[in-house]
Amino acid sequence: MERTFYDEFVRKSLRGEILSNIDCVQILTSPEIELLPLLDAAYQIRKTYTGKEVQLHIISNAQNGYCPEDCHYCAQAKSSNAKIEAYPLKPEEEILAEAKDAYESGAYRYCMVLSGRGPSKKRVAHLAKLIQKIKSQYPIQVCLSVGLIKREDAQTLKEAGLDRLNHNLNTSEAHYSNICTTHTYADRINTLNAAEEVGIKLCSGIIVGMGETTDDVIEVAKTLRRLKVQSIPVNFLIPIPGNVLSAEPALTPEYCLRVLCLFRFLNPEAEIRVAGGREIHLRSMEVMALYPANSLFVDGYLNAKGTSRIQVLRMIKDAGFTIKANQSLEELLEQDERSKNGSESDNQTDLMKDIKDLRPKIQLQSAIH
Ligand code: SF4
Repeated sequence: MERTFYDEFVRKSLRGEILSNIDCVQILTSPEIELLPLLDAAYQIRKTYTGKEVQLHIISNAQNGYCPEDCHYCAQAKSSNAKIEAYPLKPEEEILAEAKDAYESGAYRYCMVLSGRGPSKKRVAHLAKLIQKIKSQYPIQVCLSVGLIKREDAQTLKEAGLDRLNHNLNTSEAHYSNICTTHTYADRINTLNAAEEVGIKLCSGIIVGMGETTDDVIEVAKTLRRLKVQSIPVNFLIPIPGNVLSAEPALTPEYCLRVLCLFRFLNPEAEIRVAGGREIHLRSMEVMALYPANSLFVDGYLNAKGTSRIQVLRMIKDAGFTIKANQSLEELLEQDERSKNGSESDNQTDLMKDIKDLRPKIQLQSAIH
C-alpha cells in the first residue's frame, strides 16, 4: 500500500472520524497492510496526544481468590483450579506501604484490585477511607477495580478521591456468555455508567485471545469509544494452567500489534495500555507496542509474573521514550541499578507469582492464613 493509504487512517482518526468495519478488519488481517507503516500511523496519533511519554502502572492484588464468579480467563474464579495464593483484603498498613512503594518507584498510578462480584456497603466505606489516606499521603493517581458497583457506591468512592474505576468489558456483548455465565455484559456496562455518572474516570479494556472473532475485537474498541473510556488496557490472554481458558491462544506478535494500532485509531486520545500477556504474545516485538500504546504495567499482573521494572525502564530508554513520573527515567534506572531490584536473577520462566511477589510488604510468616 502507498504511504497515502496509511496517512488516511491518521487523518480520519485525528479528525474524530470512526473507521468503517471494513477498514478495521483490514487493519487486523490484511497482508496488504504492512505492519511498520501501520505502527507509524498509530504513532503519529499517539504522538499528537501524549508525545513520547509512557505511563507506568503497578498493580496491587489487594484481595486474591475466593471469587464466586466464573470468568473463564481468571485464576481467581470459582471455575478455576489454578494454584494461587488466596488471601482476604490486605490490611491498611500493607496497602499504604505498597502505595508508597509505587509512588517512589515512579509509578504514575497505583491500581488496587479486589477479587469478587462486587463490594458490600461496609467494604465500600472501608475502601473510601483507604483511598482518602493514600491520596492525602502520596501524590499518586489511584485506580480501583472492585467488581460490579452501583451509583451510590461510586459516589462514595468519588467523594473519597478515587480517580479511576477499572472494569473491563473483556469481550463483545455477543461473545460474553462464552467467557462468563455468572454476570452479564449489561452488568458490566451498568457499572461503567454508574462510575461515569458520578464523575469517576473510566478504565476498561479487552482480553484478546478468548476465541473471539475480529468483529468482536472491533466491537469492543468501538463500544469503549462510545462510552468515552479514558484508559484502555489491551490484554492478551495469559493461559494459566487450571483456568477454563488455559490453552495457549493462537496469537502472533504481529496480530497483537495490529490490535493495539486499531485501538489507537478508534480511541485516539485514550490512554492505551499494553497490558497482561504482552510478554508472552509480543515476545521480541514487545518494544514496538510503545508506538501505538502509551502506558504499560511493570512487575506483572494479578497472579502472573511480567517484565521487571528495570527491564521495562531500559526498554523505554533504549527506544527513546520518556516516562510520566515524579522522577526522571535516568534517576529511576540509577536507583534500580544500585538496589537489588536491579538484579536480573528473577526467574521469568515461572509463570505464576508466589506470595513474595503478591505481598512484598509483609513477612512471609504472617502472609499465610
Ligand atoms: S475477573 Fe473478577 S469477578 Fe471474574 S472471576 Fe476473576 S476476580 Fe472474580
